[in-house]
Amino acid sequence: MLRSVLSIYFSITVLVTLTQMAVEYAHTRTMVQQELEGAERTFYPALARALWELNREQLDALMLGVTDLPLISSVRVADKSGREIRRGHDTGLIGATIEHAFNVSYHFSGEDIHLARVTFSAADSVVLQRLRVGFQMIMVSAVIKSLALTTLFILAFRRRLGQPLRDLTGSVAAIDLDSLGHRRVDLHQTEENELSRLQDAFNRMLETLDRERRTHVAALLEVNQSLELQVQNRTQALEQANRRLEQLARTDPLTGLANRRHFMECLAVEILRSQRTGSPLSLLAVDLDHFKRINDRWGHGAGDDTLVNFARTTQGQLRASDLLARLGGEEFLVLLPDTALPQAAEVATRILDAIRSQEISTDQGGFSYSASVGVTSLRRDSDDCDVLLARADCAMYRAKEAGRDRIEAE
Ligand code: GH3
Ligand code: MG
Ligand code: MG
Repeated sequence: MLRSVLSIYFSITVLVTLTQMAVEYAHTRTMVQQELEGAERTFYPALARALWELNREQLDALMLGVTDLPLISSVRVADKSGREIRRGHDTGLIGATIEHAFNVSYHFSGEDIHLARVTFSAADSVVLQRLRVGFQMIMVSAVIKSLALTTLFILAFRRRLGQPLRDLTGSVAAIDLDSLGHRRVDLHQTEENELSRLQDAFNRMLETLDRERRTHVAALLEVNQSLELQVQNRTQALEQANRRLEQLARTDPLTGLANRRHFMECLAVEILRSQRTGSPLSLLAVDLDHFKRINDRWGHGAGDDTLVNFARTTQGQLRASDLLARLGGEEFLVLLPDTALPQAAEVATRILDAIRSQEISTDQGGFSYSASVGVTSLRRDSDDCDVLLARADCAMYRAKEAGRDRIEAE
């Protein structure tokens, strides 16, 4: 911007200087013209007399006197017909830019007698010398004015506009939209002007931005909090659902006992633990007797009630560390950690005694039920789940064969 302003200023200065030079040239011409006229007035009487008297020596002396003037380079004298009759001393300069011609007459017997036409020519050197001085003055003053004005302009520009603009640029560059706070632009303006108005407008814009940002941040925070709450609730619901699924995955829905899958997992762990620690481990395989008959006689609902009753009654005879599971149908398994075969047989006896005393009541009356139990214990390191289960099953079938409602150990 500064460059374009200065180039406009210099163009105007050049134009003004050229105009001044043209005026100076015209002025110089007028001055020279006036001086030539002055020379005419000075020499006119003597010239008229010398020409009237045809005094050649005097005329030559006069012409010499005229050309001695620094301004005049030559004098020409021509007769009526325009023929040159005399040429005064020529300074040898080429040409004459300014000439002054006048008629010389002599007043005799009441009338003016035309004698000759005299032409004074101004010396180029003098005219140029004067022009040079005038032009130099104009040039020097133009250069001084330009330098002074340029310096003043640059200083004023830097102080009044350059520094505030740098301040503004620095402030804008330092603005961080995330932490506007009370950050404002200061252009160091003490009085009301365009820059102070720009500064105010900018600060108003920053305030609006800050306000809007705060509003958006608050709204965002609210949305975030509500989202977090939703996520928390959803996570809790999911965790609950997962727990429920896990529970369902390892629970028999009718009796609430462990199901086959869960029992097998626990059995495998307990076998390993027992093999590692050497503590005894026993297993009971239980099958309700003639359960089909119960269903047929008392109905499927009564059969379910019997299954639930068995689960509750048996659970009442076990320790917290024991595990009762329903394999399916009316078949159950009881895992007895830290229990040797004789103690396991005792537990089985207790279970049978307990269920024997139970009565399942229905609309058509009550009935009791019994079960057959196969008991076995972990014997060798080679025993695994299948071996143990097969042995317990085998003992249970023997109990069935032996008349039911009894225990067989294997
Ligand atoms: P056993 O003394 O030889 O064991 O004879 P049982 O009748 O108990 O054995 P069986 O395998 O012949 O019959 C089992 C019956 O159990 C057949 C089936 O209808 C019944 N049952 C299986 N699951 C359920 C159940 O969830 N609820 C009810 N009510 N009955 C079931
Ligand atoms: Mg069965
Ligand atoms: Mg049965």
